[in-house]
Amino acid sequence: MSVQEMEKLQQQEKESLNLFLSTQTVIEKAVKKMGYSDAMFELLKEPLRMLKVRIPVKMDDGSTKVFTGFRSQHNDAAGPTKGGVRFHPSVTEEEVKALSIWMTLKCGIANLPYGGGKGGIICDPRNMSFGELERLSRGYVRAVSQIVGPTKDIPAPDVYTNSQIMAWMMDEYSSLREFDSPGFITGKPIVLGGSQGRETATARGVTICIEEAVKKKGIALTDARIVIQGFGNAGSFLAKFMHDAGAKVIGISDVYGGLYDPNGLDIDYLLDRRDSFGTVSQLFNHTISNEELLELDCDILVPAAISNQITEKNAHQIKASIVVEAANGPTTIEATEILADRGVLLVPDILASAGGVTVSYFEWVQNNQGYYWSEEEVQTKLRKVMVDSFETIYALSQTHRVDMRLAAYMVGIRKAAEASHFRGWV
Ligand code: NAD
Repeated sequence: MSVQEMEKLQQQEKESLNLFLSTQTVIEKAVKKMGYSDAMFELLKEPLRMLKVRIPVKMDDGSTKVFTGFRSQHNDAAGPTKGGVRFHPSVTEEEVKALSIWMTLKCGIANLPYGGGKGGIICDPRNMSFGELERLSRGYVRAVSQIVGPTKDIPAPDVYTNSQIMAWMMDEYSSLREFDSPGFITGKPIVLGGSQGRETATARGVTICIEEAVKKKGIALTDARIVIQGFGNAGSFLAKFMHDAGAKVIGISDVYGGLYDPNGLDIDYLLDRRDSFGTVSQLFNHTISNEELLELDCDILVPAAISNQITEKNAHQIKASIVVEAANGPTTIEATEILADRGVLLVPDILASAGGVTVSYFEWVQNNQGYYWSEEEVQTKLRKVMVDSFETIYALSQTHRVDMRLAAYMVGIRKAAEASHFRGWV
């Protein structure tokens, strides 16, 4: 490993540790506000289980590469744990732990009978063949098979994983158990028991949060200028929904850079040209950096890519009056405070992106009952969950005079805390 690569790794590990420690800080505040005991904080501040695995994969050139993966189960008092599997070069143990805690909170907010889980593999799928990805996906399932399952821990897609990867994982699990197990994983293709509306669920949920947030700020969505960081599953569908709603999407980005047009971008064209990793900017000559994109003059900013994007360094330069976090952990605690002081309405990740796990839950319910719903049924049920959750958290933030992130943690922690209490754990 070169010195540069080593420094990048150390930086990623530092950022993930900060993310995890900030999560614990907000959990502690929420536990105190809700009047729970110190023992409850001790229980909830770390995952109950964390499995680290090594996965040998035969590469196309005949060599064997050994990948490192994780599966974290934060709290299973309210039901099986649930959460995506991320394939990304910057995955770390601390990040996966933090992500599993946030899943407990999201499931609590949406009132789903689950606790939080999360998985990740350190890899770069953009540099792997289809065959290598399949062998890695199957290897991961074999490595974690003892602690996952339809009534134990149910994986789903996340960054750089998709319905094809879910299909391979479901097939591997079904082979190991010797029976068909569609309920083992969500985000599957429709023909394998996927739910209508799952692919767009996160973006739909974010859209509903934006609709509610503009009402609170007295802005008409049709007048709004929107900037979205990330053009993958969450960001690209969101851009489409905003464009179709009459809002002006003036900026989007991917890992390589951003596109900006103050008159509004041609979203249908960009959707047509983006690749399966959510990249499109390389097709254009005039691009801006992701840093510049975040500071564009706009009404609504949606970070929909990776964590740690809005920090104390750039929070003062954010022009948007509404920030809706589609990504997990895009804003640091320090930046959350700066934005709150500046009167920016921040809709936190654990609320804004809860649409994905909500429709994943609908998928699991449909798999368990073997009876499938129409897209309209899924959308109606999702809208109710998202609007109710937004209103509950917004009202709590007003009555307790706290920002929406802390209010969301207070609502989100309740289910796991009460279930742990009734089980006699604390
Ligand atoms: P994705 O892999 O489909 O797309 C990721 C996008 O982010 C791509 O456009 C990619 O180019 C861009 N990106 C990657 N690294 C970047 C960087 N360093 N700077 C700027 N852009 C970068 O992923 P997704 O499913 O859309 O997830 C995006 C975010 O939303 C993640 O934080 C994820 O955890 C969160 N999320 C997703 C879902 C879901 O159902 N997809 C649910 C909840 C939360």
